[in-house]
Amino acid sequence: MSAIIIDGVEISKKVREDIAAQVIELKEKGVTPGLAVILVGDNQASKTYVGSKEKACQQLGMHSVLITMPESVTQEELLAKIKELNEDNSIHGILVQLPLPKHIDENAVIETISPSKDVDGFHPVNIGKMLAGQDTFYPCTPYGVMVMLEHIGCDPAGKHAVVVGRSNIVGKPAGQLLLNKNATVTYCHSRTENMAKYTKDADILVVAVGKRNVITSEHVKPGAVVIDVGMNRDDQGKLCGDVAFDEVKEIASYITPVPKGVGPMTITMLMFNTIKAARTIHSL
Ligand code: NAP
Repeated sequence: MSAIIIDGVEISKKVREDIAAQVIELKEKGVTPGLAVILVGDNQASKTYVGSKEKACQQLGMHSVLITMPESVTQEELLAKIKELNEDNSIHGILVQLPLPKHIDENAVIETISPSKDVDGFHPVNIGKMLAGQDTFYPCTPYGVMVMLEHIGCDPAGKHAVVVGRSNIVGKPAGQLLLNKNATVTYCHSRTENMAKYTKDADILVVAVGKRNVITSEHVKPGAVVIDVGMNRDDQGKLCGDVAFDEVKEIASYITPVPKGVGPMTITMLMFNTIKAARTIHSL
């Protein structure tokens, strides 16, 4: 039997309805949640992402500020802008769109953002809190994955979760959030030998690699829940994931498509984190 397709657009819509209601409530209490996005340089993909974030803020009635800086901006200038936003009472979330030009130290930038406004969840303080199982800002994409699992009624407790990919922004935090929910977690990566040995045992398989067809039916256990984070282009230039969708959907119990799977959840969780920041900062 073919898997149930997890509709990221639909889940995202439901979460956004909740966010919109929270924005109204906060505004009634005199607080408009505000997100500042800093875009450095001319990267077209970054411009598109930033545009989507601004649009989401506007649709939800939130305050949004876009700060654009030239590719030639110095690290000092960028850090000074972040420090200014850390002090700005109308801003609750600060996001610096990555990647940054090579002459700028990404870690220094992330560490300058106040942990209480770090809605991307990349600051070492927030990563540490996540590791310690504390409530904090979780990185938006893996957080979106967890919300999707919750939505389909998949409790990770006691399950074997295999995460393919170990980046700081997706793979590692995805595994940690699954562990926090009592899954038994295995990570696979480019140095893993005989990856199918691990993936074939997964009850929950999260794939965040960035290569088409890295997961085929041979890698998947019948009945597994498969979450495809990858975003690639096929030979026709169409968006596709890391999982060979057509064949894996015949084996899995649930599967996310690409597009309309994990993608829509990422920006939604950014908005969610911004509301959380506003509530925390104003003790509401
Ligand atoms: P990344 O930083 O390039 O990390 C890729 C990971 O995949 C690395 O850990 C790498 O292992 C591992 N890997 C590479 N080749 C592999 C192979 N053949 N078998 C097993 N593991 C392999 O990428 P990322 O930022 O995590 O993003 C991953 C994908 O998710 C990309 O397609 C990206 O566009 C997409 N993405 C989507 C969203 C969304 O909102 N939907 C958000 C973020 C990212 P090593 O560590 O050993 O190099």
